[in-house]
Amino acid sequence: MEHATRESVQQAANILQSRPYTVALAGAGMSKESGIPTFRGSGGLWTENGEPPLDQYQQFQRDPKRWWEERSNNSLGDFAQKIDSAQPNPGHFALAKMEEMGILRHLITQNIDDLHRRAGHQSLTEIHGNRNWMRCISCGFRISQRDFTYDPNVLPVYCDEDGCDGIIKSDTVMFGEPIPPQALNSSSMHSDLSDVFLTIGTSALVYPAAAFPVEAIQRGKILIEINPEPTQLTEHATIAIGAESGQVLPLLVEMISELDE
Ligand SMILES: [Zn+2]
Repeated sequence: MEHATRESVQQAANILQSRPYTVALAGAGMSKESGIPTFRGSGGLWTENGEPPLDQYQQFQRDPKRWWEERSNNSLGDFAQKIDSAQPNPGHFALAKMEEMGILRHLITQNIDDLHRRAGHQSLTEIHGNRNWMRCISCGFRISQRDFTYDPNVLPVYCDEDGCDGIIKSDTVMFGEPIPPQALNSSSMHSDLSDVFLTIGTSALVYPAAAFPVEAIQRGKILIEINPEPTQLTEHATIAIGAESGQVLPLLVEMISELDE
């Protein structure tokens, strides 16, 4: 790591060591470091295979049974296999450690790959869902696929929460689907409370997730950005660290621990 980059990490450590209320937004850059291809950009899933239809969710709503039948018949694609074999990287573990140390109060992730959970993260909003979970589109009930059972002869699957008869779908937010209100509420609540906002591996272009750091900037909060490439947030960042999260975050934990001593 370059000296200047290391200096920036030290500056971030100095700020975070006093435990201001810190909220982070993580994006595809973190998953990429675990070997998961991005959606957009060169070699991206959608660049190679085309983007899903913009009315994907409306198609689901029109014919949920068909979606369920296709889901049952589809074998795992190359992308799904890459996600399933991916492991949390040192950046994921360092963020979970920052939570344990009382530094990071909440993490909003745009990633659907379950790697934050697998690294042990607790206070987490998966704003675009989690591909290993299912969700009711009416009441928002979520269940891990590990615990989820259904009768493949009775499709689509309906929610069996008390008083709810909503349709169950994958938790991953489809094109055209609104972000679940529970996810928006928890993201807004923690962002409002934050003194420091940390963006990690995200170009902050996809709304509504991008609105949280933008609002932090507008309200004059401290913004710390960790991303190998400059983004539209970089010029507004209090500290911009131009390196990979898998390198920066463990160093940040180490530096804060040293200051704690
Ligand atoms: Zn329900």
